[in-house]
Amino acid sequence: MDRLVSIIIPFFNEAGMIARLPGALWPQLEQIEHVQWEVICTDDGSSDTTLLELIALAQQDPRFRILELSRHFGKEAALTAGLDAARGDAVIPMDADLQDPPELIAPMIAAWQAGAEVVLARRSDRSSDGVLKRKSAVWFYQLHNRLSRTKIPENVGDFRLLDRVVVEALKQLPERQRFMKGLFAWVGFRTHVIDYVRPCRQAGRSKFSAFALWQLAMEGFTSFSTIPLKIWTYVGALGALITAAYAAFIVLYTLLHGTGVPGYASLLVAILFFGSLQLMSIGLLGEYIGRIYLETKQRPIYLIRKTY
Ligand code: UDP
Ligand code: MG
Repeated sequence: MDRLVSIIIPFFNEAGMIARLPGALWPQLEQIEHVQWEVICTDDGSSDTTLLELIALAQQDPRFRILELSRHFGKEAALTAGLDAARGDAVIPMDADLQDPPELIAPMIAAWQAGAEVVLARRSDRSSDGVLKRKSAVWFYQLHNRLSRTKIPENVGDFRLLDRVVVEALKQLPERQRFMKGLFAWVGFRTHVIDYVRPCRQAGRSKFSAFALWQLAMEGFTSFSTIPLKIWTYVGALGALITAAYAAFIVLYTLLHGTGVPGYASLLVAILFFGSLQLMSIGLLGEYIGRIYLETKQRPIYLIRKTY
């Protein structure tokens, strides 16, 4: 009996990509035996003709299903919407810009049929990204995996195959602030890795600015580690220790040499240093408290205006 596999694709202002999609997908997918397909396209509040083109696509080919979000919610929410709507025995999230090569789907399906519950596509090189993006990605993974008990596999994007059991597990995670890479890693399951070389974007430009990536990284750290919160206890303790030693030194120095020239410079440095340290730690508390605040409101992760 044929099994159904859902491909879920988030779209944010990807008008240039939609016409190429069927031609890139179907030749690859139709040669895979014993699998039926549905492609769930989520329009993440695009402001260009993305939605109209998607609707036209669905009218031509009923294997395409379109979810129209009520506004721009971001990629993580768009992916969640796709996961919730997927009916397949397996689900494959994919980018609209064809940076996730459809040729890889056949080996993914093969690994899944051989018993894997998660099949990861790992980029064996990231030359399609700029130097800064590559470097910051390396730092992010290193720091994240040192801070957090949930280890995110390096150079693995959202492109992967998830068995139905994994999708159901993901749906049980209630958080509103969704760092999908971390959630994917947190649920675990039997995992198989396939390496590939990531091609360049086929049209348009990346929808993630440097600041958006920074926010995503903060989301990752704060969702999966509390070490940034706790570290200040130790920084504070160390500071207090150094201060005590310095105070002892001043007392001794004054006893031996009398009052010297007032230490204006060292005083200012100490005040500024500890002042900024405190601001940083308060800011960090803010990051967590802000997220607690958002979680307690229990708002839905996304809203759907219409499905096609
Ligand atoms: N995307 C989205 N909402 C956003 C940002 C991106 O739905 O707020 C989609 C985008 O349309 C694309 C995928 O997420 O299908 C990956 O985006 P992009 O190619 O810009 O990311 P990059 O490859 O640069 O990491
Ligand atoms: Mg891309």
